[in-house]
Order: sequence, then C-alpha cells, then structure tokens
Amino acid sequence: MLIVMKFGGALLSKPEKIKRSVEIIKNYVNKGDKVIVVASAVSKVTDELIKASKEASSSNWENLKKIINELEKLHFNLAKDIIQNKNILEDLTLELKSLIEELKETLFSVARLKELTPRSKDFILSFGEKFSCAILCAAIKNEGLKAKWMTGGEAGIITNDEFGNAKPLLDLSSQKLNWKLTPLLNENIIPIVTGFNGCTPEGVVTTLGRGGSDYTATIIASALKADEVVLWKEVNGLMTADPKIESKARTIRVISYAEASEIAYFGAKIIHPRALKPVIKAEIPVRIRSAFNLDDPGTLIIKEQKIKPKEIVKAISFIKEVGLINVSGSEMVGTPGVAARVFKILGDNGINILMISQGSSEVNISFAVPRDSLSKAVNLLELNLLGGETVKEISSESDVCIVAVVGAGMKGTPGVAARVFKAVAEKGINVRMIAQGSSELNISFIVKEADGPKAVNALHEEFKLYEES
Ligand code: ASP
Ligand code: MG
Repeated sequence: MLIVMKFGGALLSKPEKIKRSVEIIKNYVNKGDKVIVVASAVSKVTDELIKASKEASSSNWENLKKIINELEKLHFNLAKDIIQNKNILEDLTLELKSLIEELKETLFSVARLKELTPRSKDFILSFGEKFSCAILCAAIKNEGLKAKWMTGGEAGIITNDEFGNAKPLLDLSSQKLNWKLTPLLNENIIPIVTGFNGCTPEGVVTTLGRGGSDYTATIIASALKADEVVLWKEVNGLMTADPKIESKARTIRVISYAEASEIAYFGAKIIHPRALKPVIKAEIPVRIRSAFNLDDPGTLIIKEQKIKPKEIVKAISFIKEVGLINVSGSEMVGTPGVAARVFKILGDNGINILMISQGSSEVNISFAVPRDSLSKAVNLLELNLLGGETVKEISSESDVCIVAVVGAGMKGTPGVAARVFKAVAEKGINVRMIAQGSSELNISFIVKEADGPKAVNALHEEFKLYEES
C-alpha cells in the first residue's frame, strides 16, 4: 500500500515524540508499505516566525535577534538529542546552520527595508517546515532507513500567487509530484515533504494557509493515487464536541468527507478546511490517529456512508470570539444590491464572513465575523452605507459565539431544528441569529459567548452523542 502520512507540529516538538514518529514510519515500512511523509513545523515555530517577521518589519533588531536565537537553539537541541550517528549529526548540523543563516539574512533585509510583503512573509514562514523536515529526515536515516527531504515546491506542489493562502494548481502539481516522488519510492527512499508550502510556476515560495500541512498530504495522496492518508496527531481523532467543554465527548469513528469538512470550517482546528478536497474524487480514505494510542483506530473519513437513524447529528462545533453585525433599514425591502454592497465592502477589505442570515422581510441582514475584525468591519460599513436612503442602522455585538450542529443525517429529516432550539431554549439561552446551509449539513446559530458551552452541552445530551455508534 502507498500511504501518505502527516505528522503535526506537536509530534515533532520533543525528542521522544520525534522518536515515536520515526518508529511509526518504520513499522509501516517494515510491513512492506511505501510511505511518503509530510511534516509541519515544530509547534509554535510558525507563530514565532510570524512574530519575527513583524519585529523585522518595524526594525526591532533586539527582539528579532532574540527570536532567531531561540529558534536556532530549539532546533539544534532537538537535533543533538535525537541523532546518535556522528556523520548524520554533522550533516544535519551543517544543514540547519545554512537554513538559519538564510532565514537571518532574509529577516535582516526586511528589517533594513522596513518592508514586509506577503511574498516575503511566506518565504519566512516556510522555514519552520524546512527545519522540522531536515531533523525528521536525519532521525529516519539514523534508524538505518533511506530518506530524502525536500520543500513542497521542490516536490512539485505548484500554486497560484495568493500569498498566505495559496491554492494548488492541481493538474500541474499532480504531474510534477509524480515525476519527483515516484522514482524515490521505486528506490525505497522515503520522501519527506515540508507541509504548508508550495511555490508558484515561477518558483516563488507560497504557503497554503495556517494548518496547511494536512492539505499538502492530501494533494500528494491524490496525485500519487495513494491508498490512504494518515494524519498523525496527539488526539484520537475528530470528536463529537470539544472535550474541554463537554466531558462526555467521544471520538467519531466514521464520518463522511462532507461532514468532516463542515466540522473543519466550523472551528475544530483538527483538520485544515480545504484539506479534504483533493481526496474526495479519488475516494482516498483519510484517517486521523493518535501517535500515542495505536490501539485506537481514530477517525476514518470516507465517502458517504449509510447513516444510522441514531446518527442524525455527528458533532457540535463551537467557534469563540465572534462578532455579530446587523445592517437594517426599512427601505432595504425589495431594493436589490444591498447585500452585494455589504459583502463587497467586506470582501475588498479581507474580512472573512463566518455566517449570514437575512429574514424574508428583508429589513435586515445579519452576519458574523471574527471578533478581531469586528470594529474594522463596522467602521467600513458605516463609512460606506450610512447617510443614503437605504441603510439606516448598523449595530453590532462583540461578545457572541457560534454553535453549529453538524451531520449528514439532518438532510431531509424533519424536526431536527425544532429539537435543536428546544434543547437550547430549555436552558434559558437566547438565540441571536440562525442559519442553515442549503446543504442541510449544518444548523448554526449565535448566542452570547458565556452561553456557548451550555448550549454545546445541551445539544450533546439531546442527540445522545456520548453513545458509541
Ligand atoms: N506550520 C503551519 C502552521 O502552524 C502549518 C501546519 O501546522 O500545518 O500553521
Ligand atoms: Mg500545525
């Protein structure tokens, strides 16, 4: 079997965890499987690189040097704790030194110019995965296996130039990935590809959006027609609710691509929202598993499944730190184009809309945005829309959250919404806004942030999600 496996940053953050990751790879190889490895940056490293690029852009030399030193220390310590073989350690040390030098030069240029472009930022962010993959590759070689690490771009992941959130050009990438990776697999060399980054057709480095290493893994799997993708994590898989909020939350065993994507969009940071796209057509199964609980099969994500009647709802998601905006005016009734104007203003200014609802009376449009863009959104809308004939009032609330009920079994099952809102009402929770996607895969609503956890608990109970299916 050909397996593409991705290791998350937490699994690369300590010597013993890296050793565990290598052990897992070795087990598959010993069983006769071919393996392609994708790795994230060591946890927190991407955040530190973002900080470093900010410090650089405002020429805070002292802070900048401190961050670089710490990144250097972190990776060198990992390297020396894991690698026993002297030659391998020597090679790795040289490699890490030259990467650090390159990163330093780049950040220092930004600091001198006081200019950080999206393009230079992507280049800076790509270093996290280069460090981790160099280390992981050496650790695999240290175990006597053959391996070679390369960047996403070198492996063949070609994207458009939407820096920070680049989209892969799938046909071109597919071809290139096959050219690059197949010969290595034929020689029993394990390819190790940096997650999260690719490059434009001209060779400029891009990143695929935060958490993008999952996406890297599925792009590669679909290009090489892999048998399975395994996303190795420290948690057992997708859960019925956030276990920090719901003590009876359990791992979901089987879920469809569509449901899992819905959960990803709705805030569970277990999987990248676009990551499932490349594998859906080829029906390549994706498993999320814990590297520390190999007895647990984790969550299996596959094509549609037979929905058991009990499983109308699969999971309750919860997004914190949301802001709610309400645009209203009695003249909005029957006036086309108001919604278009609202969303164009927000879109042009890079504000992400999480949820939209318009009553059929058309007197208002409500929508939710991430809380940190709320005041910007309100200012822009006031500036552009007030003072005319149509929009009379723009109001907002900043202390709200989104609760989303997700499950393919809701489709065509009457009465689910009634159960949802009855369960919430019985806890005395006031619902501020409601939306249901026309896919009927989710019902989402907004409540005060303080009421969010209570709503999650009530729904988890109502749909008996604690019961193993
Ligand atoms: N290192 C990147 C991030 O932290 C990508 C990833 O973790 O998948 O967002
Ligand atoms: Mg990550």
